[in-house]
Amino acid sequence: MFEGTVFGKLDQKLQHAIADAGYKTPTPIQAEAMPYLFEGRDFIGCAQTGTGKTAAFMLPILNHLVKVRRPRHIGHPRALVLSPTRELAAQTAENVKKFSKYVQLPFACVFGGVSQFGQVKDIKKGAETVVACPGRLIDLMTQGILYLDQVECFVLDEADRMLDMGFLPDIRRIISKLPKARQSLFFSATMPPAVRNLAGELVHDPAQVTIAPETPTVEKINQKVMMVEKAQKDALLIHLLKNHPEWNKVIVFTKMRHGADRVNKKLMRAGMTCAAIHSDKTQNQRTRALVGFKRGDVRVLVATDIASRGIDVPEVSCVVNMELPLETESYVHRIGRTARAGESGAAISFVTGEERGQLKAVERFIKKSIPVDRDHPFHSDFADRKAGKSSEGLPTAPWVHPANRNKTNRKRQGHKSFLGRRQPDFGQKDL
Ligand code: AMP
Repeated sequence: MFEGTVFGKLDQKLQHAIADAGYKTPTPIQAEAMPYLFEGRDFIGCAQTGTGKTAAFMLPILNHLVKVRRPRHIGHPRALVLSPTRELAAQTAENVKKFSKYVQLPFACVFGGVSQFGQVKDIKKGAETVVACPGRLIDLMTQGILYLDQVECFVLDEADRMLDMGFLPDIRRIISKLPKARQSLFFSATMPPAVRNLAGELVHDPAQVTIAPETPTVEKINQKVMMVEKAQKDALLIHLLKNHPEWNKVIVFTKMRHGADRVNKKLMRAGMTCAAIHSDKTQNQRTRALVGFKRGDVRVLVATDIASRGIDVPEVSCVVNMELPLETESYVHRIGRTARAGESGAAISFVTGEERGQLKAVERFIKKSIPVDRDHPFHSDFADRKAGKSSEGLPTAPWVHPANRNKTNRKRQGHKSFLGRRQPDFGQKDL
């Protein structure tokens, strides 16, 4: 069915399952990583969510479990995937379920914040693959429910995020319980020194693949900023949602949890179907919100950064940033939700004059200037000027001396004060 590609090397039943899922050709990470994984090599993959990395590691693992059958030992899985967040773990488990539709490979997904009852039940059914978050995994190991002594394939997913979240001691503890003879796969979106050191502890003679970093993904996204006063951001959001009924799946990012709750309430009052997802919500609330969003019952998902990675919802029409994130890298992760595996989407960021520093930092990071959309009733000339954006995309005013045309407003303003008189406002919307 998939002759001539890496998918063609998979067991027929797995090929059927991915064909059902609509996969036609492997993504670059799949094409490059899977041949090494079939050979049983240790592996370091520098790739972010959205590249198809889950299938890149999960398919060869399931293929191995299908081809090399062993008697099942309850509580002793043969494959372990460690994920930093519950959402990512649940998504990976969904992939396992989708891929193993025609093969008998029980699995369990274990994470905290919910009762362990169902998870233990899945383990007792003889789960061969366990997808886990570190905390609950250690919990179940301590209780004598799960043992890692028969793990043949181990995956550490989103290692950089694991370290950000302070999981290093837990990870070390988990690694110490794994058998020495195993295949280890290490995935991370970024490779700062601390992450590289951890990789060094885990893998032996690894094959390495780096999939083009974030910018190419971002390039497909139609990005814009809207200059607005802080007090008008909620009104602008409601205005946009009302004027774009075609946006049927929108993720709105806020910096703080209470901000997410506030925006969610306002949208609800404006009659929108929406839900908030952040770390103060219980696991059940988070799952319900995500499922509702995926199904299309919930149109707007209001989320904090904790949820920005790992959410895999195909066809998100638009991402709105109520504020720009403090960490510039989060910008890329946030807006990446709208261009998964080849689709393209829109990303709008609301920016006040005070946020100009963040805007500049983001633009430096993505190496391009984000155009301003002034075509809305809440446009703030003040913020526009403060951010030095007001001259971009507008006809150059005739009173600007040709030598100064490429300078920013602020530089021009220096010139202005030297002249000692006010000039007409060239930042006006209707110019
Ligand atoms: P991931 O990076 O693993 O989160 O995958 C991102 C999305 O791409 C998921 O919805 C996958 O189901 C989808 N995907 C992964 N590989 C392929 C492929 N070869 N063809 C089409 N879709 C894919």
